[in-house]
Amino acid sequence: MSERRTLVIPWMIRHGRTDLKLLVCIPVLFLAVLAFGGTSSILEMTPPISGLTLANLRDSFEETHNGHRHEAMDIIEPRGTPVRAAVRGTIRKLFLSKPGGITIYEFDEKVEYCYYYAHLDRYADGLHEGMSVTPGKVIGFVGSTGNAAENAPHLHFAIFELGPEKQWSKGKAVNPYPSLVEAVKRSK
Ligand SMILES: [Zn+2]
Repeated sequence: MSERRTLVIPWMIRHGRTDLKLLVCIPVLFLAVLAFGGTSSILEMTPPISGLTLANLRDSFEETHNGHRHEAMDIIEPRGTPVRAAVRGTIRKLFLSKPGGITIYEFDEKVEYCYYYAHLDRYADGLHEGMSVTPGKVIGFVGSTGNAAENAPHLHFAIFELGPEKQWSKGKAVNPYPSLVEAVKRSK
Protein backbone atom coordinates (compact mmCIF):
# COMPACT_ATOMS: atom_id res chain seq x y z
CA MET A 1 0.00 0.00 0.00
CA SER A 2 2.88 2.38 0.65
CA GLU A 3 3.82 2.38 -3.07
CA ARG A 4 0.39 3.78 -3.90
CA ARG A 5 0.98 6.74 -1.68
CA THR A 6 4.24 7.64 -3.40
CA LEU A 7 2.93 7.06 -6.93
CA VAL A 8 -0.22 9.17 -6.78
CA ILE A 9 1.46 12.56 -6.52
CA PRO A 10 3.89 12.29 -9.52
CA TRP A 11 1.02 10.87 -11.60
CA MET A 12 -1.11 13.91 -10.79
CA ILE A 13 1.65 16.36 -11.61
CA ARG A 14 2.32 14.73 -15.00
CA HIS A 15 -1.36 14.82 -15.89
CA GLY A 16 -2.07 18.29 -14.49
CA ARG A 17 -4.83 16.81 -12.37
CA THR A 18 -4.65 18.98 -9.28
CA ASP A 19 -8.41 19.43 -9.01
CA LEU A 20 -10.23 19.46 -5.71
CA LYS A 21 -11.41 15.84 -5.87
CA LEU A 22 -7.87 14.55 -6.04
CA LEU A 23 -6.64 16.92 -3.39
CA VAL A 24 -9.29 15.48 -1.10
CA CYS A 25 -8.37 11.95 -2.14
CA ILE A 26 -4.76 12.17 -0.98
CA PRO A 27 -5.41 12.74 2.75
CA VAL A 28 -8.18 10.13 2.61
CA LEU A 29 -5.84 7.60 1.03
CA PHE A 30 -3.14 8.51 3.53
CA LEU A 31 -5.50 7.96 6.46
CA ALA A 32 -6.64 4.66 4.95
CA VAL A 33 -3.03 3.51 4.76
CA LEU A 34 -2.53 4.46 8.39
CA ALA A 35 -5.73 2.77 9.50
CA PHE A 36 -5.62 -0.45 7.49
CA GLY A 37 -2.09 -0.74 6.24
CA GLY A 38 1.07 -0.52 8.21
CA THR A 39 3.38 -3.41 8.70
CA SER A 40 2.48 -6.95 9.61
CA SER A 41 3.82 -7.94 13.02
CA ILE A 42 5.68 -10.81 11.31
CA LEU A 43 7.93 -8.32 9.52
CA GLU A 44 8.76 -6.55 12.77
CA MET A 45 9.26 -9.55 15.03
CA THR A 46 12.28 -10.05 17.23
CA PRO A 47 13.87 -13.47 17.91
CA PRO A 48 12.08 -15.41 20.68
CA ILE A 49 15.49 -16.44 22.07
CA SER A 50 18.34 -13.97 22.68
CA GLY A 51 21.62 -14.38 20.85
CA LEU A 52 20.36 -16.64 18.05
CA THR A 53 22.50 -16.92 14.94
CA LEU A 54 21.47 -18.17 11.51
CA ALA A 55 23.17 -21.49 12.36
CA ASN A 56 20.53 -22.01 15.07
CA LEU A 57 17.68 -21.85 12.54
CA ARG A 58 16.47 -24.75 10.47
CA ASP A 59 13.34 -24.81 8.34
CA SER A 60 11.29 -27.82 9.44
CA PHE A 61 7.86 -26.41 8.54
CA GLU A 62 7.10 -29.06 5.91
CA GLU A 63 8.53 -31.99 7.86
CA THR A 64 6.30 -34.69 9.32
CA HIS A 65 6.59 -34.87 13.10
CA ASN A 66 4.51 -37.41 15.04
CA GLY A 67 2.36 -38.05 11.97
CA HIS A 68 1.50 -34.40 11.31
CA ARG A 69 2.95 -31.66 9.14
CA HIS A 70 5.17 -29.82 11.63
CA GLU A 71 4.07 -26.28 10.61
CA ALA A 72 6.52 -24.76 13.09
CA MET A 73 10.20 -24.40 13.89
CA ASP A 74 12.13 -26.11 16.63
CA ILE A 75 14.86 -24.04 18.22
CA ILE A 76 17.20 -26.25 20.23
CA GLU A 77 18.28 -24.58 23.47
CA PRO A 78 19.30 -25.72 26.96
CA ARG A 79 16.48 -26.20 29.45
CA GLY A 80 15.69 -22.96 31.28
CA THR A 81 16.76 -20.61 28.45
CA PRO A 82 14.45 -17.56 28.56
CA VAL A 83 11.76 -17.45 25.85
CA ARG A 84 10.79 -13.93 24.79
CA ALA A 85 7.72 -12.40 23.20
CA ALA A 86 8.45 -12.08 19.48
CA VAL A 87 6.07 -9.17 18.97
CA ARG A 88 4.11 -6.53 20.85
CA GLY A 89 0.79 -8.04 21.78
CA THR A 90 -1.35 -9.80 24.34
CA ILE A 91 -0.99 -13.14 26.09
CA ARG A 92 -4.23 -14.64 24.84
CA LYS A 93 -4.11 -18.18 26.23
CA LEU A 94 -1.97 -20.23 28.59
CA PHE A 95 -2.70 -23.82 27.71
CA LEU A 96 -1.47 -27.22 28.83
CA SER A 97 -1.76 -29.67 25.94
CA LYS A 98 -0.69 -33.27 25.49
CA PRO A 99 1.53 -32.60 22.45
CA GLY A 100 2.62 -29.02 23.26
CA GLY A 101 2.98 -29.34 27.02
CA ILE A 102 3.13 -25.91 28.66
CA THR A 103 2.22 -23.44 25.89
CA ILE A 104 1.57 -19.76 25.26
CA TYR A 105 -0.64 -18.26 22.57
CA GLU A 106 0.16 -14.59 21.98
CA PHE A 107 -1.94 -12.35 19.70
CA ASP A 108 -0.25 -9.43 17.99
CA GLU A 109 -1.59 -5.91 18.51
CA LYS A 110 -3.72 -5.97 15.36
CA VAL A 111 -5.10 -9.44 16.22
CA GLU A 112 -3.92 -10.65 12.79
CA TYR A 113 -1.42 -13.29 13.87
CA CYS A 114 -1.06 -15.64 16.80
CA TYR A 115 2.44 -16.57 18.02
CA TYR A 116 2.70 -19.98 19.66
CA TYR A 117 5.43 -21.09 22.06
CA ALA A 118 5.42 -24.74 23.19
CA HIS A 119 7.23 -27.40 25.29
CA LEU A 120 8.03 -24.74 27.89
CA ASP A 121 9.55 -25.78 31.19
CA ARG A 122 7.48 -23.12 32.94
CA TYR A 123 5.94 -19.69 32.51
CA ALA A 124 7.67 -16.48 33.59
CA ASP A 125 6.53 -15.39 37.05
CA GLY A 126 3.33 -13.36 36.94
CA LEU A 127 2.48 -14.24 33.32
CA HIS A 128 -1.27 -14.26 32.86
CA GLU A 129 -3.93 -14.26 30.15
CA GLY A 130 -4.84 -10.77 28.94
CA MET A 131 -1.39 -9.41 29.81
CA SER A 132 0.20 -6.96 27.36
CA VAL A 133 3.76 -7.78 26.37
CA THR A 134 6.46 -5.97 24.44
CA PRO A 135 8.98 -7.64 22.13
CA GLY A 136 11.78 -9.25 24.10
CA LYS A 137 9.76 -9.64 27.30
CA VAL A 138 10.57 -12.96 28.99
CA ILE A 139 7.36 -15.02 28.95
CA GLY A 140 8.65 -18.51 29.72
CA PHE A 141 11.59 -20.89 29.71
CA VAL A 142 12.67 -23.61 27.29
CA GLY A 143 11.77 -27.15 28.33
CA SER A 144 10.57 -30.50 27.07
CA THR A 145 6.96 -30.68 28.28
CA GLY A 146 4.39 -32.40 26.08
CA ASN A 147 5.71 -34.79 23.47
CA ALA A 148 9.26 -33.39 23.29
CA ALA A 149 12.00 -35.87 24.21
CA GLU A 150 13.15 -35.36 27.80
CA ASN A 151 16.78 -35.11 26.68
CA ALA A 152 16.08 -32.67 23.82
CA PRO A 153 14.60 -29.47 25.24
CA HIS A 154 13.63 -26.98 22.55
CA LEU A 155 11.26 -24.15 21.75
CA HIS A 156 8.55 -25.16 19.30
CA PHE A 157 7.67 -21.81 17.68
CA ALA A 158 4.74 -21.33 15.31
CA ILE A 159 2.79 -18.47 13.76
CA PHE A 160 -0.88 -18.70 12.82
CA GLU A 161 -2.87 -16.25 10.74
CA LEU A 162 -6.07 -15.75 12.70
CA GLY A 163 -9.39 -16.29 10.99
CA PRO A 164 -12.36 -13.92 11.24
CA GLU A 165 -13.46 -15.57 14.49
CA LYS A 166 -10.10 -14.57 16.11
CA GLN A 167 -9.90 -17.75 18.15
CA TRP A 168 -6.57 -18.74 19.67
CA SER A 169 -7.16 -22.38 18.74
CA LYS A 170 -7.93 -21.69 15.06
CA GLY A 171 -5.64 -20.30 12.42
CA LYS A 172 -3.68 -20.95 9.28
CA ALA A 173 -0.05 -21.83 9.91
CA VAL A 174 2.53 -19.49 8.39
CA ASN A 175 6.14 -20.67 8.03
CA PRO A 176 8.10 -18.64 10.62
CA TYR A 177 11.49 -19.51 9.10
CA PRO A 178 11.98 -16.70 6.52
CA SER A 179 10.85 -13.97 8.90
CA LEU A 180 12.89 -15.37 11.77
CA VAL A 181 15.99 -15.33 9.55
CA GLU A 182 15.34 -11.63 8.94
CA ALA A 183 14.67 -11.03 12.65
CA VAL A 184 18.01 -12.62 13.58
CA LYS A 185 19.83 -10.52 10.95
CA ARG A 186 18.18 -7.34 12.32
CA SER A 187 19.15 -8.26 15.88
CA LYS A 188 22.88 -8.28 15.08
ZN1 LIG B 1 8.18 -28.78 16.96
